[in-house]
Amino acid sequence: MFATPAMARKHTKQRPQVGRLGKHLTRRSRGRCELCDRRDGVRPYELWPFPEDPDPERTLMACTRCRRWLEAQEIDPIEAHFLAAAIWSELSAVRLAAARLLLASDGLDDPWLRDALESADVDPGTGEFRSPDP
Ligand SMILES: [Zn+2]
Repeated sequence: MFATPAMARKHTKQRPQVGRLGKHLTRRSRGRCELCDRRDGVRPYELWPFPEDPDPERTLMACTRCRRWLEAQEIDPIEAHFLAAAIWSELSAVRLAAARLLLASDGLDDPWLRDALESADVDPGTGEFRSPDP
């Protein structure tokens, strides 16, 4: 069993600089949450650890619900099945966000969660991918 990354709880506060990526990300996401495709409250969300300058490879557009989950490191497994698809996104920020949400949910007794998490290949200690981008 994996544990929730200890770092996860400390590094969720967003910073204003991320607004610089707004235009680029809006174009990339077409105004939809890049995790679940919803449209409500979509805003950039930076993944820790933050680089000096906001990086689109470490930032995704996320809806109100997905941002809340990322901040709380908690998901609702009933609603979260879209993560099984997001884990295969071509965008590394989306893959990583999905993987971290799945990590955070580990311990919940849901076979699809465990399968998705296993295919994610994320190091639970660091919250980063074990292998570089495919
Ligand atoms: Zn979403």
